[in-house]
Amino acid sequence: MQWLSKLKENLSGNISENLSLASITSFKVGGPAKVYICPRTERDISEIMSFSYRESIPLWVLGGGTNVLVHDNGLSGIVVGTSKLRGMTWEVKGPNVYVRVDSGVTLPELVAISLKNGWSGLEFAAGIPGTIGGALAGNAGANGRAVGYLAEWIRTVERDGRIIEWKKEDLKFSYRYSSVYSPSRVISQCCLKLDVSDRTKVLERFMEYKRRRGFQPKNKRTAGCVFKNPSADVSAGMLLEQAGCKGLTKGGAFVSREHANFIEVRGNARASDIYFLIEYCREKVYVYSGIVLDLEIKLLGGPWVYG
Ligand SMILES: Cc1cc2nc3c(=O)[nH]c(=O)nc-3n(C[C@H](O)[C@H](O)[C@H](O)COP(=O)(O)OP(=O)(O)OC[C@H]3O[C@@H](n4cnc5c(N)ncnc54)[C@H](O)[C@@H]3O)c2cc1C
Repeated sequence: MQWLSKLKENLSGNISENLSLASITSFKVGGPAKVYICPRTERDISEIMSFSYRESIPLWVLGGGTNVLVHDNGLSGIVVGTSKLRGMTWEVKGPNVYVRVDSGVTLPELVAISLKNGWSGLEFAAGIPGTIGGALAGNAGANGRAVGYLAEWIRTVERDGRIIEWKKEDLKFSYRYSSVYSPSRVISQCCLKLDVSDRTKVLERFMEYKRRRGFQPKNKRTAGCVFKNPSADVSAGMLLEQAGCKGLTKGGAFVSREHANFIEVRGNARASDIYFLIEYCREKVYVYSGIVLDLEIKLLGGPWVYG
């Protein structure tokens, strides 16, 4: 592979070949990444992006891998992993704290530091895994709140290596939608605006959000909610339950008995088992209600075949 030797000559950072993506995603299924690179700086990302652009190599981005389903055949080209982008600084200005954070820092780490310092704003993220980059890409949230609304600015590295800083007023977020998301753009850094508050109050709100999550499967092989809620009043979980999806099984994958919008995995499940269940459940909900559910998780690779 000629481009791989060129890549190695030109770039610093950890480069792995044929890395099993099952080992770094929460479903723990899916094939390998042909090349997996964990850049340490924004400049490294920019070099990878411009290199892959020039050489027409497909490019993928992976944060914590907690909201993706990777195809059994894996991903050709280059997968950029953000786990080594770990910087964080903050500045208190009056009643606010501005936290500048690299995209590989995890949401649980940000929640923990907020609890320690009495910063308010991220309490709703209690129990949401993954990185801040992944959270901004999908506007992760719970109970009507979401990460994107806290962003003062976001820096991205574009497909051709250019770096852009998006100001708050350039960004649009809504329920699980982020204008900054694009499959081959890397979110490198952001600044979140939080409130300086009282540690006890922040902890109380955090515990309350944590309590509300009680009915979801924990410490299981899942990727969170599979489908988006069709509206604020109609939850995908309720439709899936009413359509009789709870407990449906295909190979090593099954619809959770605790929450119908979660697919759980055991043993040697394949990504194709999960994909089958996704499409089968979507069909059942459509027949039951006439509603076509949209995916919340991202399918990486393909082609995906149902049947
Ligand atoms: C048990 C469990 C509970 C969950 N609960 C919730 C919840 O309550 N609310 C919620 O919203 N989600 C929830 N999730 C889903 C998931 O945790 C979030 O969506 C999380 O923000 C994904 O972050 P990640 O780093 O794991 O992203 P990944 O899964 O790695 O990636 C998700 C998508 O974002 C893209 N991406 C990742 N990082 C970047 C980056 N730096 N730049 C550009 N694109 C990027 C990827 O290409 C992919 O398309 C849950 C998941 C689990 C397993």
